[in-house]
Amino acid sequence: MKFNVTDVKPLIEDEFVGEAAKRALQYIQTKRSAGMPVAGIYCGYAPMEVIRAVGAVPAILCAFANKTIAAAEAVLPANLCPLIKSSYGFIITDTCPFFGISDAVVAETTCDGKKKMFELISHYKPMFVMDLPQLPDEKEALANWATMITKLQGFLEKTFEKSATPEGIEAEIKATNIKNRLMNRVFDYATKKPSLLKWSETYELAFLAQVATTEDLQPIFQEVFKTLEEREAKGVYYGTASAPRVLVTGCPVGGDSTKVYKIIEEAGGVVVAMDSCTGMKPFMTEIEENTGNPIAAVAARYLQLPCSCMTPNTRRLDELDKTIARFQPDVVIEVVLHACHSYNIEAYKIMNHAKNKHNLPYLKIETDYSDGDVEQIRTRVEALFDSL
Ligand code: SF4
Ligand code: SF4
Repeated sequence: MKFNVTDVKPLIEDEFVGEAAKRALQYIQTKRSAGMPVAGIYCGYAPMEVIRAVGAVPAILCAFANKTIAAAEAVLPANLCPLIKSSYGFIITDTCPFFGISDAVVAETTCDGKKKMFELISHYKPMFVMDLPQLPDEKEALANWATMITKLQGFLEKTFEKSATPEGIEAEIKATNIKNRLMNRVFDYATKKPSLLKWSETYELAFLAQVATTEDLQPIFQEVFKTLEEREAKGVYYGTASAPRVLVTGCPVGGDSTKVYKIIEEAGGVVVAMDSCTGMKPFMTEIEENTGNPIAAVAARYLQLPCSCMTPNTRRLDELDKTIARFQPDVVIEVVLHACHSYNIEAYKIMNHAKNKHNLPYLKIETDYSDGDVEQIRTRVEALFDSL
């Protein structure tokens, strides 16, 4: 039996269905009211285990709304990634509640645009910029990144007047691993044919799971698994049995850029794999436990994240192989945000890999947060599905 999300119980049944950011904001506000400091973060490389071990709650500051871009363009070049412009626009118009409640900001030297934007906002809040090694396979990279994480710990301890212990970081490593295993149990429902998960459900759960602790997520996971088991028992699935299964890879997709997911769905496809930092990527790997050096273990895990800011980024191809084997997509669609040079250039390798190694059709969509290209994207996605 096919379902539309309105026909069945949502995965997270609360007043925030369809409002991932508001749910996360309420969670962070509750924690802050209970006395926890808030560490704003901008990237998948932010070492959450250290932030949590210091007793802070993370808040994601990357923004996905078109409405603040005009304000940002008064300062930033128009030809810049919309994620950076949107994030900056929210700050200078003082309309980002996540930035507003952040007591400090953790930033990383990933792409040039973000790096230079951090300079422009550094006077608003205490900020720590982490020098991210971008040649992850060099032997110094791990030691340098571990040093940066130790420095971050010192910054957070001083700023928040709290402290983290190695035991506390080790406990957070274990908590992350439990969370990631549970998230992957959820993702397994999208590996089924047909999928039992809708993209927006994965997106909403991932949004919350990035900020919430494993302990706080337990009741939500229990409900989620109950709902998914019920769907499976009743034979309820999402889309149509023959819907093209889509793996979406590339830049983070959120807010206004989820138009791409919506178009895929309206064209009859089902997004089964969301290979980006706003999707499944943050939960795909585990951190080595009981090494005796938890900072080094955390450093090793984050350095393995296959972001296009790394060179060479061969791990992305390895991860893509695993994702394709697991979710069995019929097509690969890459989302590249305007002016994101690293993902845009790397797209050539991803295209060749999808086509030549996996014999999968590939489509690259370059877009921003406006709705001006919706019909053009729709035409291209429909043509792709027609060609299957
Ligand atoms: S895509 Fe890369 S730079 Fe962007 S949030 Fe993810 S890891 Fe960070
Ligand atoms: S999408 Fe690309 S350009 Fe934009 S912030 Fe992420 S890495 Fe930088």
